[in-house]
Amino acid sequence: MSTLFISDLHLDPSRPATARAFLSFLSNTANGADALYILGDFFEAWIGDDAGTAFSDTIITGLRTLSNSGTAIYLQHGNRDFLLGQRFCTEANCSLLPDPCVIDCYGRALLLMHGDSLCTDDTDYIELRKQLRAPQWQAQFLAQSIEQRQLIAQQLRAASSAANSNKSQDIMDVNGDAVAASFEQHGVDLLIHGHTHRPAIHEYPHHNGLRKRVVLGDWDDYAWSLCYHDDHSYQLEHWAIPQQAIAPQTITS
Ligand code: MN
Repeated sequence: MSTLFISDLHLDPSRPATARAFLSFLSNTANGADALYILGDFFEAWIGDDAGTAFSDTIITGLRTLSNSGTAIYLQHGNRDFLLGQRFCTEANCSLLPDPCVIDCYGRALLLMHGDSLCTDDTDYIELRKQLRAPQWQAQFLAQSIEQRQLIAQQLRAASSAANSNKSQDIMDVNGDAVAASFEQHGVDLLIHGHTHRPAIHEYPHHNGLRKRVVLGDWDDYAWSLCYHDDHSYQLEHWAIPQQAIAPQTITS
């Protein structure tokens, strides 16, 4: 009995190897798991559930096949796919979770976050996040044509990468006080998040025992997954993503 946590796949038609690795993960590793949690930035960009493509349909089909086989799938928004909505979830047969969210995992409370809200040193980003998450901004954005939305999304991504290139690595990592406050506020001793692309298990000695923060990795050269077992042991696993599709074997008689 186990539950899997992944994040930051940044799925995009321009990176077919990652999509292949994910579909293979669904039909192999995740097949038979109790639940799969996807903690945001699942897609590189998501401009609305009405703007689906053949690519996103393939991903939806993969998710639905797994969830219909009995593995519950939960999704949290990231900073790139915060417009994933109910229509997507219905089609993929998965459930949207708030961020932050405390879940019960085999009797233990786990705190799940995408992680961007912990990067409080990046004040410009936190300000932008507020704006992009406002229902009014989202309603206005979704009211535009798909072409207009694509243009705005491109501009936002360009502005973000230009801004990030001038920021120090420290500013774009989580803030220690924000992490401590999250443990405190939610009364948990295990936090799982992604976003920073710095996979690790951090330990924080605390008077009530040891708190741990698991950072999931992004799926680029490697795929990352946290496997949490019903005996409360867990491992942060990674494996190489094959960059070439494996050619079908030619069978000669
Ligand atoms: Mn992110």
